[in-house]
Amino acid sequence: MLQLTDVTVRYGDTAAVDEVTLALEPGQVLAVLGPSGCGKSTLLRAVAGLEPLTSGSVSWAGADLVGVPTHKRGFALMFQDGQLFAHLTVARNVAYALRLRRTPSARVATRVRELLDLVGLAGYDDRLPGTLSGGERQRVALARALAVEPRLILLDEPLSALDATLRERLAGDLREILHAAGTTALLVTHDHDEAFALADRLAVMRAGRVVQQGAIDEVWREP
Ligand code: ADP
Ligand code: ADP
Repeated sequence: MLQLTDVTVRYGDTAAVDEVTLALEPGQVLAVLGPSGCGKSTLLRAVAGLEPLTSGSVSWAGADLVGVPTHKRGFALMFQDGQLFAHLTVARNVAYALRLRRTPSARVATRVRELLDLVGLAGYDDRLPGTLSGGERQRVALARALAVEPRLILLDEPLSALDATLRERLAGDLREILHAAGTTALLVTHDHDEAFALADRLAVMRAGRVVQQGAIDEVWREP
């Protein structure tokens, strides 16, 4: 499991993340919900190893991740715009990390088929990202993130770039996909609906601090 203990990230005099303690059990989806500027992205980047901690610790299954570089943490990142390689087909995008690892090509082909099935894009193998809708691109990004069977997936506002209709449709799918894949996920968002659509647990963040956390229906009271 993921454990953050008193994690602080400072930029100069400002603590973007201020003594945050959070735990995430295998198979759980935790949403960190808070307004723009409260430190969500910084927190996610710190977990990914993209941001040095000023103090505190991040560990996985009891092992401190200090000094462990991003690509060795076993985490997958999926950011807002999906960031697909525009010149590669859908299949090549999904296969990217597997090929980097020199996975045998027969295995890559099987895995790509499984993943495209999982995200509802069977048959899209040869399409280029430029020919896909926003929601389809997000699904490809998700398949790509899941390809290497990450022990944790980090999602930064995965649905925010989409229009309202598409967001609603993809939210249900994304939740099912995460659960079907048994994935542990940490997502950050400013969007209350996105958090509720996807997560089991909620941490409410304000000005760098987690002010409340728990099962989603326990934490949230209608204001
Ligand atoms: P959120 O993701 O919730 O919008 P961020 O984590 O992006 O918030 O930012 C939290 C705070 O840290 C903000 O006040 C932001 O201006 C500041 N901040 C973020 N990144 C940097 C940086 N690289 N240098 C200086 N300040 C930063
Ligand atoms: P080094 O000890 O090799 O100088 P750093 O301390 O700069 O390495 O950290 C290397 C990586 O580990 C960075 O990506 C940083 O975000 C991350 N990191 C640093 N301290 C911690 C910590 N206590 N827990 C988890 N990750 C950490």
